[in-house]
Amino acid sequence: MDFKVGVISGDGIGPEIVREAKKVLDRVGEAFGHSFAYDEILMGGVSIDATGEPLTDGAIAQAKAADAVLMGSIGGNTSTSPWYKLPANLRPEAGLLKLRKSLNLFANLRPAYLYGELREACPLRDDIIGDGFDMMIMRELTGGLYFGERVTEERDGVMTAVDTLSYNEHEIRRIAKRGFDIARKRRKKVTSVDKANVLDSSRLWRKVVEEVAKGYPEVALEHMLVDNCAMQLVKDPGQFDVILTENMFGDILSDEASMVTGSIGMLSSASLNDTKFGLYEPSGGSAPDIAGKGIANPIATILSAAMMLRYSFDLDREADAVEEAVRQVLKEGYRTADIMPQGEDKAQVTQVGTEKMGDLVAQRISPA
Ligand code: NAD
Repeated sequence: MDFKVGVISGDGIGPEIVREAKKVLDRVGEAFGHSFAYDEILMGGVSIDATGEPLTDGAIAQAKAADAVLMGSIGGNTSTSPWYKLPANLRPEAGLLKLRKSLNLFANLRPAYLYGELREACPLRDDIIGDGFDMMIMRELTGGLYFGERVTEERDGVMTAVDTLSYNEHEIRRIAKRGFDIARKRRKKVTSVDKANVLDSSRLWRKVVEEVAKGYPEVALEHMLVDNCAMQLVKDPGQFDVILTENMFGDILSDEASMVTGSIGMLSSASLNDTKFGLYEPSGGSAPDIAGKGIANPIATILSAAMMLRYSFDLDREADAVEEAVRQVLKEGYRTADIMPQGEDKAQVTQVGTEKMGDLVAQRISPA
């Protein structure tokens, strides 16, 4: 099949890591008989330098015309880059917010998976890690507290700030359906996280999630309060498959879950709307401290491309092949600098740069 992929290389390490993900996609194309056509889209600092804006209307149109968008990262050093002297709506990150909004990307997916070879990077005790963990955090991205009405004003002589947490049933239903669809492709369990003992928005969340669950009898549903979930993530992470939650809870829990896996360079993510379209990007930023040195870890971007194959193109076998190739490369002992073990274990592994890591993964892709 032929696919049109919008590519936002962006700033910092973005172009370096995206180059390797494209290399892997091209290898998938060769091995499985697909073709990927790339359309380069300007966003972030590079777009500011070229056009004066972090994302132009033309760039949005390019993204909309693609089947999916693969992104590196945007932004620069927030203390020294001239981009951060601009008004907030003209800074690199404004481009990403505008893109998410224009494409109606309401569902954010962040897997937290522990590779056996990287156990050492996990801050949890061995008995807690057990056989490892493999969870997917599904976070609502366009509603809730971050988008509700807000005001800061003096009331009766006292400065008062108000943020509003609002969800309607349609917003909850569409993310819940996405969560159950994803669970169906995985281990068939959804943990819906809320604060239903206190919040009205959570009680509606719970009610709608239960209605949606009736359409997925093969998927088990459990509810968990957010404070308990924060504890369970470090007490018994192996119990989770899909964690389904609203915007702010998901923001916090997904960072907690990513920390227990160890390295930011391994973490992929996807933002989806209610079509097959998605924006796929590593969870990390543009890492200006290592940009241009050829040492960034491209695996998170490569795994984001695998998510694109799975969720936008329905190419599950191809996605499996990419994930398996990454596992194989780690098993063979290749590591980028950020995932190098410390101390004596160093002798057991081979340190490689960005380009070599991309080559190694691409070479190991074959139809199973
Ligand atoms: P960062 O994620 O860029 O870097 C944090 C640390 O992680 C750094 O030490 C960096 O070297 C390391 N790191 C990140 N990705 C890595 C990789 N693939 N391989 C090896 N090491 C990696 O976070 P930051 O320094 O807070 O932000 C830098 C810039 O990135 C800022 O302008 C920020 O706004 C932007 N940012 C962009 C996105 C995005 O594009 N979605 C996300 C987060 C931050």
